[in-house]
Amino acid sequence: RWDSIRGAGVRDTAPSTIFDLILNGSIPATIVRENEHILAFKDINPLAPAHILLIPKDRNGLTSLRQSTEEHIHILGQLLVMAGEIAKDTSLGFGDGARIVINDGKDGGQEVQHLHVHVLGGRQMESTFG
Ligand code: ADP
Repeated sequence: RWDSIRGAGVRDTAPSTIFDLILNGSIPATIVRENEHILAFKDINPLAPAHILLIPKDRNGLTSLRQSTEEHIHILGQLLVMAGEIAKDTSLGFGDGARIVINDGKDGGQEVQHLHVHVLGGRQMESTFG
């Protein structure tokens, strides 16, 4: 299963992250969707009844969204399309809508330096950001 996964950090020099350990199977994750380029799994510390993370399998410089360039347009589009699919998957606990978030850099509250998209749902979100 993991044979096809190159793992993050192959094409950039930033330190590897906990998501590399998930990608190479060293630590478990509850995977909810996967394709050639993206892994989606349950957040270990869910902040809502449904909380899924999507990551590019090959980080390829995408430690954060601020590092993105034209070469990332395709993977960024794929991430958002899959986020939308996940957000309507009632079997994952989503209801009528979701909050889709990218925390970027220190001020954005980003802890893991591998671009990831949060999809949160299953409850009414507040109208403000904290
Ligand atoms: P924050 O922790 O402030 O949300 P990020 O946006 O970088 O910062 O999100 C990292 C997310 O990764 C967190 O929601 C955290 O719960 C999640 N996470 C960390 N380790 C794991 C893991 N081993 N499996 C699943 N999710 C994880």
